[in-house]
Amino acid sequence: MTTGSILFLPGDGIGPEVMGVVRQVIDHLGKKGPSFELHEDLVGGASLDAHGEPITEAVLAKAKSVDAIMFGAVGAQKYDSNPFHLKPEQAILKLRKQLELFANLRPAIVFNALVEASTLKPELVRGLDILILRELTGGVYFGEPRGIEDLGNGQKRGVDTQVYTTAEIERIARVGFELARKRQNNVTSVEKANVMHTGVLWRQVVTELHAREYADVQLSHMYADNCAMQLIRRPKQFDVIVTDNLFGDILSDAAAMATGSLGMLPSAALGAPDAATGKRKAMYEPIHGSAPDIAGKNMANPIAALMSFAMLLKYSFDRDAEAKLLEDSIADVLNEGYRTADIAQDGMTTLGTTEMGAKILTALTKRST
Ligand code: NAD
Repeated sequence: MTTGSILFLPGDGIGPEVMGVVRQVIDHLGKKGPSFELHEDLVGGASLDAHGEPITEAVLAKAKSVDAIMFGAVGAQKYDSNPFHLKPEQAILKLRKQLELFANLRPAIVFNALVEASTLKPELVRGLDILILRELTGGVYFGEPRGIEDLGNGQKRGVDTQVYTTAEIERIARVGFELARKRQNNVTSVEKANVMHTGVLWRQVVTELHAREYADVQLSHMYADNCAMQLIRRPKQFDVIVTDNLFGDILSDAAAMATGSLGMLPSAALGAPDAATGKRKAMYEPIHGSAPDIAGKNMANPIAALMSFAMLLKYSFDRDAEAKLLEDSIADVLNEGYRTADIAQDGMTTLGTTEMGAKILTALTKRST
């Protein structure tokens, strides 16, 4: 009896390199703990080369049938002039859309060994562990009408529409409250209710849901511009930030920089719970891209992918103990002074992708015995 099924989509560039390390960790965990039924397929440029499209219907069908998806990265320069629907990145958008992955979880965690890598002062980021929850399938990136119209006389008019319904706000806020209960029990809801109608509705819906079902969770509201400032000023004041698609896009990148490197940052995208099983559709991926500049050179940092897998263990399979084991093993290796090139520091040993993977496996073995 396996713990569940995972579809592996390594993709392009450094995607297959970092996902190779994740596979080794899965094999290791399978010896004693959770064992998964693994499927693997092509996505992005790799799928364009083999099938002429960024993701095939067969892969989308498989993605819908498994318990969780582990995604590497997609993209390469040779597809830059492709029409929009034939770009590798379309694979991600199709997966998000067809699986209705409306909740994007972006943790910003700072390992103690890496406090110096942040552009913020060490005392501001030491021990930082915040979670930005971004609504992913609604808001101004999808609202209608949208487009550019020609007004004649050399003038054009660009329009985007910010739209949110009660149901859309409620389902993302619900995820926020539930995640907070597993963390520090504190939610900051972020919008611009001072100048936007969607913001007024957002605040109202979140407040009502909170009073109705989540009164045990601490809730505060903040305007998005203030939140951007507070993330730089005093990031540790936050636990879970729940916000819309546009503000989440910007705020999660700002929070990411507090941690120092793209190679360290995981993410998850979750859908609604299935009516029969209660399980959510879910895709886990490092936030970095295919990094063509270092692809094939054994230089990629595998930690973002491994931390994404830790999220998979936690959120798709409730295997919090194994997730923590993996996170602690990563911390051990960093504490011992090992780094990949992107987080290299004076006096530390710089390792390649596979060597860093091997060190983390050794630390895992040590902690599991
Ligand atoms: P990128 O994230 O691939 O790389 C940005 C910089 O960070 C590069 O210098 C790269 O070497 C470095 N970097 C990224 N991940 C690293 C890691 N794990 N270890 C060490 N260094 C790392 O972003 P980009 O260069 O803007 O985009 C490259 C390609 O990736 C493009 O085709 C883009 O569309 C695509 N992309 C895909 C995703 C995704 O698959 N989710 C996300 C972002 C970009």
